[in-house]
Amino acid sequence: MNLVKLSKNEGFLDPVHGFINVEYKVVYDLIHSKEVQRLKHVKQLGGTMQVFPTAEHSRFTHSLGTYEMARQMIEISSSIKEYLSEEDKVTVLCAALLHDLGHGPFSHAFEMVNLIHHEKYTLQLIEEDSEVNRILKTVSEDFPRLVSSVINHTHPNKVLVQMVSSQIDADRLDYLSRDAYFTGTKYGLVEYKRIIRAMKVIDGKICFKESGLSSIENFFVGRYHMYKQVYYHPRSLSYELIIVGMLRRFIDLVNEGFKFVNSYELLIPLTKNKMLTNKEYTELDDHLIYASARKFMDEDDKTLNDLASRLINSISFSSTFVDKEEAKQEIYEGLVNKGFDPRYYFFTNKTSQIIYKKDNNDSLKEINIYTKDGKTVELSKYSVLVKALVEGNIYNDNNKVVIYPTF
Ligand code: ZN
Repeated sequence: MNLVKLSKNEGFLDPVHGFINVEYKVVYDLIHSKEVQRLKHVKQLGGTMQVFPTAEHSRFTHSLGTYEMARQMIEISSSIKEYLSEEDKVTVLCAALLHDLGHGPFSHAFEMVNLIHHEKYTLQLIEEDSEVNRILKTVSEDFPRLVSSVINHTHPNKVLVQMVSSQIDADRLDYLSRDAYFTGTKYGLVEYKRIIRAMKVIDGKICFKESGLSSIENFFVGRYHMYKQVYYHPRSLSYELIIVGMLRRFIDLVNEGFKFVNSYELLIPLTKNKMLTNKEYTELDDHLIYASARKFMDEDDKTLNDLASRLINSISFSSTFVDKEEAKQEIYEGLVNKGFDPRYYFFTNKTSQIIYKKDNNDSLKEINIYTKDGKTVELSKYSVLVKALVEGNIYNDNNKVVIYPTF
């Protein structure tokens, strides 16, 4: 492997982590590649800025932050540092930086339109023709595949996989802290340094020393509140569903042969119901969606005009929590009677998330505490608080929110 260090370390100021340090040339070049730079034009939290107006941060800053969390794991946890070869270290740093490369406009909203998980695009962008792929190949011909094997969990060194994608990983440590900072909420402010300090490699897996227990409990409680108060806030969801409705209407109109007054060349690949090429995919970002919405307002279609105008002018849908099918049906019928087409105006969303998952079949996914007497114990068997999160009805609540325009 050709692992070149920069002649002097580079870095970026960051309000969440203080400073993001870059030592390897391949990381520096990746940060400046066009596919990583594109992430500046994809908001990290989609519609959340409708509720928390300062949540304007991008997937780019989150990607840098995830890289920095992986870097700090190597720097702060002496156990991880000793366990990894230099090749492993550079592989995991690149995987952390690139883990969200395939996010579409407005992040998760876009997956409801293209129906392909962003991770598939991440892997395609790393492994197939792209600037990122060419930069990774300067390390070795096989390096793109090695980096993507960390992201798709097939890398033989499971410590690398756990660092980027597990229940306490570089991704979550960054986004909880970053989203808390940029929304102005305090729930997600996790003590990431203490958590990282507690990491220890035992039998080829990351465990957490007992000394980090309070910080780990705080991490899961913070995650619970962030999902409840921020990520699943009905008004944030509502804004994203306007985009979903609008793009679905556009796709249907194209497929029905509707005559548009404007052209939408870059959106046309979306109408084919297939995996997009790297070139087609990287043309898509939040700005394109806003620019298209402005043009949609000129088209001779009431539904497209209305949804585009709601998007541009931040006119949210309403939302109601329902637990009975009849209540849902009543809203649905009311909408239809008022002339709204439910394909574009009626959505049901879940409002809860599994905060910590005990997975007896996959010990890699479990959090294990390394006790003072040298044993490893699964987290929910050790922490009463996490046990309550797992067994209580906190994550089992089947609340559904129905989102629709006021009528
Ligand atoms: Zn991420």
